[in-house]
Amino acid sequence: MSKVWVLGHGQLGAMLQHAAMPLDVDVVPVDIDSGELPDLQSEDVVTAERELWPQTPVTDALANHPNFINLHIFGRLADRYTQKQLLDDLGLKTAPWKLVDADLTESQIFSEIGERALMKRRTGGYDGKGQFWLRQSEDSKIPADWRNEAIVEQGIDFDEEMAIVGVRDRKGKKFFYPLTLTLQLNGVLTASVAPLARLQKLQAKAESMLGKLLDELDYVGVMAMECFRVGDELIVNELAPRVHNTAHWTQAGASVSQFESHVRAVAGMPLAQPQVKGLNVMINLLGTERDERWWAISGAEPYWYGKGVREGRKVGHINFTHSGDDKLIQGLDELKALLPERYEEVIDWVESAVAEA
Ligand code: ATP
Ligand code: MG
Repeated sequence: MSKVWVLGHGQLGAMLQHAAMPLDVDVVPVDIDSGELPDLQSEDVVTAERELWPQTPVTDALANHPNFINLHIFGRLADRYTQKQLLDDLGLKTAPWKLVDADLTESQIFSEIGERALMKRRTGGYDGKGQFWLRQSEDSKIPADWRNEAIVEQGIDFDEEMAIVGVRDRKGKKFFYPLTLTLQLNGVLTASVAPLARLQKLQAKAESMLGKLLDELDYVGVMAMECFRVGDELIVNELAPRVHNTAHWTQAGASVSQFESHVRAVAGMPLAQPQVKGLNVMINLLGTERDERWWAISGAEPYWYGKGVREGRKVGHINFTHSGDDKLIQGLDELKALLPERYEEVIDWVESAVAEA
């Protein structure tokens, strides 16, 4: 049986491996700094759990394999400049933006983009890192070392944030998960809820937007598209060519999780429309110590990544699937009592999203 090698050995690689077990597909996450080269066979395939990687002996070996799926798409999407160009070329709406080159002035930004503008480093940003707000009211200046390294985009006064995850097979067949409402605090995904009946009217639009991208790129596997909702409009925030945190709930709440969908697609196995089981909630564990009492909450499905705990670091998540009774709120209340105080607003946000679902 051929293997699926994953460039990277973080939690996403581990979750791909976990999901592949019932498929009897051997998924092997690879530490890019390992001194040992992977024993690649010609019939194996290679995928990645990250968009960008340094050149190391291991990444060189993987990138030279002829079956590295989507290889040339990673670099194109990892650079916000080329990602925005792609979105523009396909007529997909994004926040109005510009490249921060050597000549761009602050007054040009404020007059052409708006008086609140967000600079984002072209590469390497995540969890809100690599961002810098420019505000006309504060007479903000572009730091010299951001020139040629960043784009700048309009600050969007959005109603809420959401994401859609889709999967495409080698022949171009596509399936989508429902739009997922997300809560970002300090630029970091903290909780998500799906599906919501009130977002159903945006589903077809979101699917056609992401579908257009998947087809244009001849993409194989799972991709995520993060959006801002402004009224009935979806504005694309960013794309991720990989399994994505906003769809971790699919482990508990879908007949085929995003991880299994990705493995099936890259391994050339059949895909199917994932059936969604009830209403789903995911809460990210950020910089929180492991607490065994989470496992005693009825309905909770904790997933602990086994990483060292550092402030703000993603160390696990907890899924809940709602089967139509009041157990979900009960479980969330129990969890609230066990998490640090800063989670109060997170659980309140989740509970109000659930109440109007
Ligand atoms: P990720 O961890 O998802 O990769 P990131 O650090 O790459 O995140 P973005 O997703 O671009 O960066 O931004 C993080 C968050 O910052 C968004 O989820 C949103 O809350 C806020 N944000 C980003 N762009 C804008 C914008 N143009 N206007 C207003 N808020 C924004
Ligand atoms: Mg994001």
